[in-house]
Amino acid sequence: MNEQRRPGLNCPKCNRFIETTITELISASYIECKHCRLRLEINKQESKRALEILGDVERAKQRVQEASTFRR
Ligand SMILES: [Zn+2]
Repeated sequence: MNEQRRPGLNCPKCNRFIETTITELISASYIECKHCRLRLEINKQESKRALEILGDVERAKQRVQEASTFRR
């Protein structure tokens, strides 16, 4: 089974999977493909709203994880 839950995207140049995090997508200005070194610039103005929504989801998930580890 492939792990489909990892966040990331497929490189448009070499078509391999670039693993990234939503936090990284929000904070970085570009993503670099580790396989072919292609730099994908993030269009912040266009994607900002979508990333903000995704960022909320990510933060909520982290909160859940923190809560569950704290509980033991
Ligand atoms: Zn690539």
